[in-house]
Amino acid sequence: MKKAVIVLSGGLDSTTCMGIAQEEGYDLYPITFHYGQRHNREVIQAQKIAQYYNVKDHIIVNINFLNQIGGSALTDETLEVPTEGVSDEIPVTYVPARNMIFLALASAYAEVIGAEAIYIGVSAVDYSGYPDCRPEFIQSMNETINLATKAGTTGEKIAIKAPLISMTKKETIETGLRLNVPYELTTSCYNGEEEACGKCDSCLLRLKGFQEAGAKDPIAYKK
Ligand code: ZN
Repeated sequence: MKKAVIVLSGGLDSTTCMGIAQEEGYDLYPITFHYGQRHNREVIQAQKIAQYYNVKDHIIVNINFLNQIGGSALTDETLEVPTEGVSDEIPVTYVPARNMIFLALASAYAEVIGAEAIYIGVSAVDYSGYPDCRPEFIQSMNETINLATKAGTTGEKIAIKAPLISMTKKETIETGLRLNVPYELTTSCYNGEEEACGKCDSCLLRLKGFQEAGAKDPIAYKK
């Protein structure tokens, strides 16, 4: 069976990618990064999601951004997570070059296990502030990983798939609901507590997406 590496954060988008890759006939090989985000809820939920999909292998790779590289409210404890809603500027929750680093490591794993695809749940629509969520970046990174790997240079090219790139959150959720994606196991809140805050950018986007899709978000929010 053909294999795909899925960059699985435990969030709504990457979990939708698990459902899409499964539907497209791939054996799923999720890779989760513990990069020093403030909380480890994402990693715990990613493990539950991997179990739900009954994967053969789920790897968790440690990279420490926290207070070393920092540069983001998610990886620097001196920066606050904003609750002002979505603006036009690149938000402080942007983690410097995160998707480039994740895709580089995912391509190394893909080469070793002989996977032909890497799925990443980026969207250029609802997260347009993040430079590493744009189609130009994904295309360029795809060329780069094929130049950098033995697989790429011997003809076994690796394809980066970003099926959500031009989807709104509403469309992503509609796709996921059709594929029975376990949204009750996903986490989006930047604060990573038992109940989502409902106020950070990530919570707001998620809630808006479910509302527009005419569905109820199955996770718990603070009253
Ligand atoms: Zn939140």
